[in-house]
Order: sequence, then C-alpha cells, then structure tokens
Amino acid sequence: MGVGGRLSAGVERRSGEGLVIRVPGDKSIAQRALILGALAEGESRIGAAPRGADPLSTAGALAALGVEILGPDGPASEPVRIAGPGLRAWRQPAAPLDLRNSGTGARLLAGALAAQPLSVVLTGDDSLSRRPMERIAAPLRRMGAGVEYVGRPGVLPMRVTGGPLTGIRHGGEVASAQVKSAVLLAALGAGVPVEVREPRRSRDHSERMLEAMGVEVAEGWRDGAWSVRLPNPPASLAPLDMEVPGDFSSAAFLLAWAALSPGRAPLTIRAVGLNPTRTGLLPVLARMGIGVEVLPGRLAAGEPVGDLRVGARTGPVRAVDVGEEEIPGMIDEVPILAVLAARARGVTRITGARELRVKESDRLAALALNLRRIGVGVEEYPDGLAIEGTERPLAGTVECFHDHRIAMAFGVLGATRDCDLEVDDPAVADVSFPGFWKLLERVRVPVAGKPAVRAEGPRSAPRCVVLAIDGSAGAGKSTTAAAAASRLGFRHLDSGAIYRAVTWALLESERRIDEMDQVTREELEALEVALDWSAGVMGVRIRGIRVPERALRADRVTASVSRVSAIPLVRAQLLDLQRAAARPPGLVAEGRDMATVVFPDAHVKVYLDADVRERARRRILQRIGTDPGNAEIEAEAARLKGRDLLDSTREVAPLTRADGATIVDTTHLDPVAQTEAVIDLALPFLPPKH
Ligand code: C5P
Repeated sequence: MGVGGRLSAGVERRSGEGLVIRVPGDKSIAQRALILGALAEGESRIGAAPRGADPLSTAGALAALGVEILGPDGPASEPVRIAGPGLRAWRQPAAPLDLRNSGTGARLLAGALAAQPLSVVLTGDDSLSRRPMERIAAPLRRMGAGVEYVGRPGVLPMRVTGGPLTGIRHGGEVASAQVKSAVLLAALGAGVPVEVREPRRSRDHSERMLEAMGVEVAEGWRDGAWSVRLPNPPASLAPLDMEVPGDFSSAAFLLAWAALSPGRAPLTIRAVGLNPTRTGLLPVLARMGIGVEVLPGRLAAGEPVGDLRVGARTGPVRAVDVGEEEIPGMIDEVPILAVLAARARGVTRITGARELRVKESDRLAALALNLRRIGVGVEEYPDGLAIEGTERPLAGTVECFHDHRIAMAFGVLGATRDCDLEVDDPAVADVSFPGFWKLLERVRVPVAGKPAVRAEGPRSAPRCVVLAIDGSAGAGKSTTAAAAASRLGFRHLDSGAIYRAVTWALLESERRIDEMDQVTREELEALEVALDWSAGVMGVRIRGIRVPERALRADRVTASVSRVSAIPLVRAQLLDLQRAAARPPGLVAEGRDMATVVFPDAHVKVYLDADVRERARRRILQRIGTDPGNAEIEAEAARLKGRDLLDSTREVAPLTRADGATIVDTTHLDPVAQTEAVIDLALPFLPPKH
C-alpha cells in the first residue's frame, strides 16, 4: 500500500502488532483548515482531510466564493489543495451559499464573510435552519457588519454584508467555539484587534491553527472569564501544510468496540487528534476498567496527535457516574458511552447532558428508546440517563432518527457477542465516518453462527427522482434546471457542459474541426473526463483539472460543440458518467437526449421550446446585459437554428421530444414561471418533506 493508501481510513494491518487502523480526519479541524486556507495567501495543502458531507459543503461554499479548491471530493488519500487568494479577495457568489448540515461551516463563514466587501446569503438544510444564529449575528453587527435574517428571525437563511470592521470585546454568555471562531475570523479578515471572553473554555481548534499560521493569539483567565485575543492581526496569512488528525469522536467507537470484544487482537488507532478539549472520554474509560494507552506523537497545525492502543481487557467493564463537569469534553461520546454502559457491571448514571437533546436528534430520547427496545433497562432524566448493564443477549431493530452517532453506537454493539441488532438507517454514518460499516465488518471477530452486522445498506435504497429536461438551444433549460435543482435540493446535470469540455479539450489538442470525427477511444479515455460536485454546482474535469466556465462558453467551443457531440464514440464514452450523476434525493438532468437516451426511465420528462428569435434575444441579453438590436437577433437566431439542425438531424441521440415528455413553451414565460411549471410536474414524485 502506498503512502496515500495509508492515510485514508481503514484497516492497515493485522500483524504482530495486532489490528492497526485509521479513522477519518476530524471535520471540525478540516473545515477550519479549509476556511483559513481560503483566507491565506498562497497554496495550502491539507492532507487526510475527511470527505464527509460537512467538509464538502464548506468546500463547496468556498468554491462558490471564487476560491480554487482541488480535490475536496476526491479520494481521502489525496490532499486537498487550496489556492489562497488572501484575506479579502473572495468574490460575490451568484447564488446563496448552501451549507446543508454544516453548522461549523455556516457559523465560521458568517464570521469570515463579515470582513469581505460582499453581500452573501447563507442557507442550510431543515435541521441547520433550526439552529440559533443570533449569538453569531450580534457580535458581528457590533463590529460593523450587516447581518439580516431573510426568513424567520434568528435562523438561516441569513444575509451577511461585510466591509470594514472595528474591533470589539465580546463577552459571550455561552462558551461556544463556533461563536468565538466567527468573531476571530471577522477580526482577522478585517485586520482589527479583538477579544472574546467566555464563561468556560470552549474547543480551541481555531486558536491553535491561527497560531500555527503565524498569528499572535493571547489567551488566559482574566477577571473570571477565559479570554482569547488577537492583539495584532497580520496583514496576510501564511498558507497551511498539514495532515488533519483522525477524529477522536470516530476513534471512540472503535475503542468501545475493542473494549466489548474480548479475545480480539490488540487494536491501535493511528494519528488521532488528542486535543484535551475533546478527549474527555479517556478518563471515563479508565474508570470503567478499559485501559487505553496514549502514544503521543507530533503536532499538526498546533493540534496534539498520537496513537491510541487498547490491549486485552483484564476485568469486567464497570459502571460509572459521569456528571456535568465531564460532559463538555465528551459531548459527542455520550451515545457510545451509553452503549458501553449497557454491557457494564452495575448502573451507569449520566447527568448534566441536557444539550444532547438539541443535537442531530434528541440523543437522550433516542438512546433510551433504543436501549429499551433491545432489552436494556434505562431511566431517562431531563438531563441524562441511568443505564443498567446486562449480560443477556440483546436483539432488535434500532431507530437512528437521522443521527450518525446513534447509528454507529448501536452498530458497535451489534458487532459484539450475543447481540443481534439491525440498524434502520446505516447510511447516516457517512456524515462523519464514511466506510464505518466496512471497517467494523473487517475488524470484528467472526462469531460462529452469528450473522454479520445487518447494516450493509439501507433496507430499501433511497429513491433518486430524475427530472429530464431536453430542448432546443437557448430555450431556458439551464436556468430552469438550475433553479429547479436548487429548490428541490437535487443535483443539476448540465450535460451540454460535458460536451463543451470535451470539445474544448480537443480544440486545445489542436485537432482541426473537420478531423474531429477521427478521434479514437484511447484519446477520449486519456482525457479522463470526470464530474466534480464539490462546489455544489457541477463542474467538469479533464485530467483532474476543472475546466473554467469561460473556456466552456468560449465562442470557438460553442461553434464546434454540435459537431463534436454528433460523434457516436463521444456520446457512448460519456453515457456512464452522466448516469452516475443520479443519486438521492434526485437529479435534474438537462440536455438534448436526457429523456430519450440517458434517462429513458426518468420520472418527469420535459421538452422546453421557445420561438427562435426570443431564444436569440435571451442569449445575447445574457451575454452582454442589454437588449440587442434586430440585426444581432437575426444573426444569433441563425446560429441557434444551425445548432438545432445539427442536433436534431444527427444519427445518434438526435434532439427530439421523448415519448411522454411535456412540452413547455417558454416564449412568454419568465424564469420563475418556467421553474414552477417544471416543479409542478415533479410534485407527485417528491418525498413528503417537499
Ligand atoms: O446546452 P448547451 O448549449 O451547453 O449544449 C451545447 C451542445 O452540446 C449542444 O448544442 C449539443 O450539440 C450538445 N449536447 C448534446 N447532448 C446533450 C447536451 C448537449 O449533444 N445532452
């Protein structure tokens, strides 16, 4: 296995040393690294960056702000590279930034955006749109930024209008690493000093990373509060070169599995982040009789990193009491602690954990319900649980409530002796630990007669709803498809852009237009055409490099693309790539043969058309921003007709209305009405929440 392979999560070895594994990188640290890399000047390199949903959302938002980011959705063995443009060089995005479920992304970006001369709307999914934002908005407003709620007060969507700021002293009532980081990022971007005071120390990942990037950070207890100051924010930020430490919270699941699996080989988890604000579970494990050896290693961007090793257990797992003081340092580990408690000798009491009720699920309720359901005695308090450990066989179906940590905690239990559990939504583990089930399957001790953890995939695969939109050039397909996709939370496949990218690449290789059809399969394969979804919108990569929008839309590409797309080999070569873009909850696919060839089983088929002169007018308007004269319209109409003719008369996949496609004539419709028309057709196929 090469160096790259060793860095991704998985089993490294089963050897004399026992099992040696890695867990995904810490997403709190990774998202900070992405944002700080995007504010630095020069190229940052972030190795072992996790590829879960949250870092991808943050990377997508940064890309939409004009920051060049390579590889955030590539293999975890490859570093993410960020071309940092400097402190105040982000660009106005075309649309709201959708942070989906990433609270870290939304809150930290709000801070960073406060110092940029931009006006940007931040949005998120339903669950993120319930989390409080005012604690961030208030200090940013005091610094001079504009922060307004676009919908309901206090929650996303929220517009941040940045500009020059003044330094403040912010005294927060709750200790929150995200609030602190947002204020620090705003001050850093604006180049003004700032102080944040909190009632107790919150996680300090941002401070450590800033220091590692050469920023002076002053910290200490002052007048009964923990004070963090940036006394001299620098004029520019040096880029980062780091390996993201493994996520302690992910490692905790494997530590627990090891503790509950007597007879297995010793387990070592490599390169785990050991920031003391995160490792509060370790002393609790020690009290339970689970010995974890910590082998300290190097620092990564100021973060302590080391290996964790669990040897053979000598005695039984013992029940423990965990109270308010200990909870903050192990807040995410309560679910796995509850599972350990189910197999401990005695009653484990967890108190002071009220905050768990407002995590991805009401974790206290979810734990109580599931433990009871599989046969464990539980009492639920407003702020905790009492769990009576048992050695009896446990069995049943676990309900995850869309919560990754609930799924993984019970997954661990299910992978141990005398447990036969089924997890109802295993895919949710991907949020923080892609590959979790495979890893568990590979490390677990085979038990005769016991089935593997029944969690290889969701019982019924979630459905992907496909909307196929075809039509003539300039009929409004892109605008409509993009708007519908964004409204529905679906991907938008712009198949025209793929043909354009291939055309561009062939033109770049100096092939003459009349020789295009001599292109060979080998040549096409060598282009390594791939789609890149990291920025939220589709990008096309040729040999790993994202083709810039202006290259795709260049006149010479537009003039040749219909010739290239008529080549049967080109079309065949791009088919799988397009089909692979479909994934739940859905896809809006736009082009010329979406409903006929690529997705003949699409749920909704639409054929958009409009009068050719109106299409020509819109095209020019889009390009130059003013209404064109008659002569220009006629010339553009002729070009469009030429492309339509080529597209509709070619031998393979000609442009035509598919059987069952609804014709939408957009001549007299505006973009909003076109989108509504398409969404109306899709309504019967959408999952209930739409
Ligand atoms: O939609 P757009 O104008 O970007 O498409 C550029 C060209 O790509 C079209 O004129 C057509 O020749 C080709 N194309 C195609 N099949 C698709 C999408 C686009 O042949 N599905």
